[in-house]
Amino acid sequence: MKGVKLISELKFIVDNNVGKLAKWLRIMGYDTLFFNGRDDSRMIATALAEGRVILTRDTQIMRRRVVTSGQLKAILIKGDEPEQQMHQVIDTLNLDCYFRSFALCLECNESLLERSKQQVKDLVPPYVFQTQSQYMECPACHRIYWRGTHWQAMTRKLEKFTTGQP
Ligand SMILES: [Zn+2]
Repeated sequence: MKGVKLISELKFIVDNNVGKLAKWLRIMGYDTLFFNGRDDSRMIATALAEGRVILTRDTQIMRRRVVTSGQLKAILIKGDEPEQQMHQVIDTLNLDCYFRSFALCLECNESLLERSKQQVKDLVPPYVFQTQSQYMECPACHRIYWRGTHWQAMTRKLEKFTTGQP
């Protein structure tokens, strides 16, 4: 039996020094913004306004009063490798890697929309069309998603992080 904890309110903003985490969190279905600016104050303002947890390697941010006072939650990421970093986040917050699997565009963070097989007929490779029945489309970039082998491999990798194996 797996202990599944739903922390539905968790949303993130990922500093560009740990940018790879954005994709992993979106795979799990966690609403995650990628901050690509240079002004930390803007990232902090967004995090406060939208109730997002900051993930960063920047110790300066950890010393800010909003963070030390507990008003804003921030996690200082320690490892150099994205895998280590993801392990730390999953462990610290007890994240569920199947939280809302297959719900967000990995590039845009937009909620995916369901599409029928007929709707994607000309948009996906013939092999995919023959073997997959469930499709999702990103309303922003119009990428089509399906639960192919790439997706499965990434989810399996995530599962490994939660069991604590490197
Ligand atoms: Zn998209």
